[in-house]
Amino acid sequence: MILTVTLNPSIDISYPLEEFKLDTVNRVSDVSKTPGGKGLNVARVLNDLKESVTATGCVGGENGEFLLHHLPESIQNRFYKISGDTRNCIAILHEGKQTEILEHGPFLDQDEVDGFANHFKYILGDVDVITMSGSLPVGMPVDFYQHLIRISNTFGKKTVLDCSGNALKAVLEGDDKPTVIKPNTEELAQLLGQDVGLNLEELKAVLKQPLFDGIEWIIVSLGADGAFAKHGSTFYKVDIPKIEVVNPVGSGDSTVAGIASGLANDEDDQALLTKANVLGMLNAQEKTTGHVNMSNYNELYDRLIVREV
Ligand code: ADP
Repeated sequence: MILTVTLNPSIDISYPLEEFKLDTVNRVSDVSKTPGGKGLNVARVLNDLKESVTATGCVGGENGEFLLHHLPESIQNRFYKISGDTRNCIAILHEGKQTEILEHGPFLDQDEVDGFANHFKYILGDVDVITMSGSLPVGMPVDFYQHLIRISNTFGKKTVLDCSGNALKAVLEGDDKPTVIKPNTEELAQLLGQDVGLNLEELKAVLKQPLFDGIEWIIVSLGADGAFAKHGSTFYKVDIPKIEVVNPVGSGDSTVAGIASGLANDEDDQALLTKANVLGMLNAQEKTTGHVNMSNYNELYDRLIVREV
């Protein structure tokens, strides 16, 4: 069983417009509203993979009810109810561009923060792997992922962390280490305050920095260039073929789903990295964020090369 954590989920609203007119009325007929948030993308892709998956996080208000109501039935719901309203995130799609309006989301008081941590502890029973994705809601301390990782480690669960900025920094500087982190090069550069390019020797030097000590797997996703990974003291480059891309938003979440599935099934390094990248690519080939068409899986799988570097 894989548990996905989405602490600050959203209702994602998309407004496609032929032309976006500022300072006047824009009318839209083709509105879509779906449960959103990086962890929910992970859950949906795991569901497409036919993995057994449970989703948790914090939800509240009418938007929270909407989110729970629209989760696929095969994803088990173990969300924790809070008093604030789950946020809306609006994407206006116009003239080939995307303008986004993202609400901060609800504030959690100390009782709710502690309440979620307790809830998390009690739902870990038959979970093998936990994914933690995205930003923290307002009110949660910056080291909250560190707290969840400590609990997970105490119960012998594997963890995949996909966050950025101060939340990632707090985990790297803490004593309790996740099994896997999956930064992209932008997130690495932001973390380290230095440019991170595609040169393999430079990437190796970056991942050998003491900041990453104690983390079993570091998987750096490189978009159309595949991925670079460190497992223990072994380095890998994943080479991927050129594909026709429709919408790469959510590819990183899809990759996280592949990593979690690889860990849950005790797959070897080659298989885990291939699965993670194939799922990222499959997501990039779809219009819908956090969805993969598994009928194209095998054909792509055979075209990836994982090489030790
Ligand atoms: P994130 O969304 O976290 O920035 P990436 O953009 O690196 O993550 O995407 C994750 C994975 O998805 C990549 O490692 C790659 O396998 C696949 N992918 C993403 N974008 C593309 C693309 N344009 N072409 C082919 N594969 C892609």
